Amino acid sequence: MSSASEGLLRDQLGRALRDLRISVTDRCNFRCVYCMPKAVFGQHFRFLPREELLSFEEIERVARLFAELGVRKIRLTGGEPLMRRELERLVAKLAAIPGIEDLALTTNGALLTPDRARALREAGLRRVTVSLDALDDETFQRMNDVGFPVSRVLDAIEAAARAGLRPVKINMVVKRGWNDQAILPMAQHFRGSGHVLRFIEYMDVGTANGWRLDEVVPADEILDRINRHWPLEPVPPAHPGEVATRYRYRDGAGEIGIIASVTHPFCRGCTRARLSPEGQLFTCLFAARGTDLRQLLRSGADDATLMAAIRNTWQGRADRYSELRRLDTPSLVGTRPKVEMFRIGG
Ligand code: SAM
Ligand code: SF4
Ligand code: SF4
Repeated sequence: MSSASEGLLRDQLGRALRDLRISVTDRCNFRCVYCMPKAVFGQHFRFLPREELLSFEEIERVARLFAELGVRKIRLTGGEPLMRRELERLVAKLAAIPGIEDLALTTNGALLTPDRARALREAGLRRVTVSLDALDDETFQRMNDVGFPVSRVLDAIEAAARAGLRPVKINMVVKRGWNDQAILPMAQHFRGSGHVLRFIEYMDVGTANGWRLDEVVPADEILDRINRHWPLEPVPPAHPGEVATRYRYRDGAGEIGIIASVTHPFCRGCTRARLSPEGQLFTCLFAARGTDLRQLLRSGADDATLMAAIRNTWQGRADRYSELRRLDTPSLVGTRPKVEMFRIGG
């Protein structure tokens, strides 16, 4: 890796390319109401056929080039990434790439058995984030819409921790009127557990979830509700560009995070590129279009050509959707075409 390229690839707003999120499948075994509502993603929805997905070898090749351009952290996501067969094989390939310092996975936990957690850890995965939106089955099952029980996600969290994928982060998307009553029980449950619970403001990703601003519970309100029970204090960011704002309980019971992409957008520090399952490179969670890397990969392009495509895409990037949404909500929300979340991951 040339040290000259290190950290030097900057976009139009001066942001370096540091992180790569790789969505390995568009399929999921949940139908979360805020992501893949059943009404849209029912039995007849056509997911990508297998041959359209990048192979592990193709993903590895692209990831190597990203590492050469300055990426240090890779997160695997989806859809549900554990639905991709033999994911451990991809993890091992990515873990071996020089320059990659952190390799993480976001999952709903349904397939994260103790054996799978151990295999992922052995292949080189370092950390996992497990999504969980409530602690009672009634609320959680309304959110996941496939009748999946809370206990199995809690088991997955423990399996991950025991396998050494620590600290486990827990993502809770908060949707007003659906699961906001679960904020305090979730906080209470994970206080003192060593796991880090992160509250995520419900976002207007994609076009299918029927997002409404009045269903967003603002980060300040979430914090206030928790702070009244268990006083909190801010923690400085661990690294620049961190998406979650961190707080710790004053009584020493650990830490929480808030991802306030609606009320406190963090586009200015956004150093993330996203690769979709079929090899499109997106520079924003809310982008409408990507750069087709698969077409290059499958037409025999050499590394220099692929690298130039990635470099040009990043250098041309001026995305700051969340900031613009905040400045100009009525003209933006619902009017722009956007990629779906399950295609490019969270
Ligand atoms: N299926 C895996 C999971 O749920 O953890 C990985 C993919 S999922 C798209 C990644 C993250 O995005 C999850 O934590 C999920 O809760 C979050 N997410 C999905 N839709 C969202 C929305 N509309 N607003 C905020 N977060 C969302
Ligand atoms: Fe599936 Fe994750 Fe989307 Fe839920 S949030 S539908 S688990 S991809
Ligand atoms: Fe990054 Fe786009 Fe999210 Fe802003 S809106 S933080 S640019 S992904």
